Amino acid sequence: MAKLQPVRGTHDLLGEDARRHRHVIETALATASRYGFSEIQTPIFEFTEVFARTLGETSDVVSKEMYSFTDRGDESITLRPEGTAGVARAFISGGLTQDLPLKLFYQGPMFRYERPQKGRQRQFHQIGVELIGVPTPQADIEVITVGADILDALGIFDGIVLELNTLGDTKSRHAYRDALVEYLMGHKDGLSEDSLRRLEANPLRILDSKDEGDRKIVADAPSFGDYLNAASEDFYGSVKQGLDAVGIPYRQNDRLVRGLDYYCHTAYEFVTDRLGAQGTVMAGGRYDGLIETMGGPSTPGVGWAAGIERIAMMIEAPVAPARPLSLIPVGEDATIAAIKLAHDLRKAGHSVEMGYSGNLGKRMKRANKLGASHAVIIGETELEKGVATIRDLDTGSQVEVALDKIGDHLGAEA
Ligand code: ATP
Ligand code: MG
Repeated sequence: MAKLQPVRGTHDLLGEDARRHRHVIETALATASRYGFSEIQTPIFEFTEVFARTLGETSDVVSKEMYSFTDRGDESITLRPEGTAGVARAFISGGLTQDLPLKLFYQGPMFRYERPQKGRQRQFHQIGVELIGVPTPQADIEVITVGADILDALGIFDGIVLELNTLGDTKSRHAYRDALVEYLMGHKDGLSEDSLRRLEANPLRILDSKDEGDRKIVADAPSFGDYLNAASEDFYGSVKQGLDAVGIPYRQNDRLVRGLDYYCHTAYEFVTDRLGAQGTVMAGGRYDGLIETMGGPSTPGVGWAAGIERIAMMIEAPVAPARPLSLIPVGEDATIAAIKLAHDLRKAGHSVEMGYSGNLGKRMKRANKLGASHAVIIGETELEKGVATIRDLDTGSQVEVALDKIGDHLGAEA
C-alpha cells in the first residue's frame, strides 16, 4: 500500500482550506458577474494539440510540464495546464463566433509537472476571465479592473502591485524581436540551454528566464519602449489612462512578457512579496492572434488567470459555517422522535447534528467538539411529556420546550 498516498504535488482540501478555496471562487464569480462575465466550464482534458499549438513547443509548459497520455482510442490527450486554450477551442468548436463580445469566467483544476514547493503544485487551481472580440484598450482596462476588484473584494489588494508592460502591435514587436535577437546573439556563450533553444522560436520568452546567467544578460538588453510605433504607444497610453481613471496604480516593467507571437499590446501581472518566491498572483495579457492560430476566425481577446492556492494563502480565514444544534436522543423511541425532529429543523433552515451513539456524556462531548450552540436532549421522560431539554452550551442554562415549538424557540433566540 505504499502508493496509498496523494501523488506528489497534489493535495486533499478539507475544513478551513476547502472554505478558503470556495470563498475565492465565489467572491471572484460574484465580482466578475457584475462586470457581465458568465461562467464557462470546459473539459479538464483536451486533445494535446489544443495546448501544443497555442502554448508553443518551446514553452516551459509544453516542453516539460504537460500531463499527456494516449487514451484507449489512441488519441493523444493532455490534462489542461491552463484555461485559455480550452476556452478558445470552445469558442471555435461551439460556434460562439456570432456572440461577440464574449465575456467568460472559469475556475477549476490545472495540471503541470513542476517541482512542488510553496505556491507551486502539480494539480493547482485557477480562476480566470477572457474577454473575446474587443480590439480596443477598453477591454484591457476592464479585464485588469475586474482582476483588481476581485483581489480587493478578497481583502488582499493592499499587498499587491500591478506590473504593466506593452508588447506593441505586430510591427513593433517584430522590430523589437530583431533587435533582441541581435543583442542575444552577441551573448550566446552566457545563455542557458533553454534560452539557446528559444533564441529562434521564442526569443521574447528569454526576458522572462529565471536562470541567473540569463538574467544578467537580459538586464542590458534593448528596451521594448524604444521600438514602439505611434499606434502601439497610443494603445498603451489609453490603457494607462483608463487605469488612472479608475485609480489602479501600476509599475511599468519592460521585462514583463508573454512569450508567444500571438500576444500583443498589454501584458501584466499582479505580484506580491508576501508569498516568497512564487510572487505572481494573477497574470494576463492580450492575445489577438491566438484564435486565428488555432484555426478560427481572426478574433481579438484579452484575459488573465490567477492561482487560487496562492490567493487562498493570503486571505483572512472565511467565516465558519453557522454553529449547529446537536440533537441527543436517549433510548430507542427517542431516536425515532429525534430523527423526525432533525428533519423538521433542517427543513426550517437550522443546521443540525445528530449524536449517533454512546451515552449522554459521550454525546455531549461530541456536541461540544462540533462547536454546537445548543444540545437538544430527548430522553424517555421528555418524550412522555412531548418536550425536549434545550441546553445552551455556552451558558449551561437549560429549558424544556415542546417538540413542535423548538424551531420557533431557537429561531427567536438566533
Ligand atoms: P510561474 O512563472 O510562477 O511559473 P506561470 O507563468 O507559469 O507562472 P501562468 O501560466 O501565467 O503562470 O499562470 C497564472 C497563475 O497561475 C500564476 O500567476 C500562479 O498564480 C498560478 N500558477 C501557475 N502555475 C502554478 C502551479 N504550478 N501551482 C500553483 N499555482 C500556479
Ligand atoms: Mg510556470
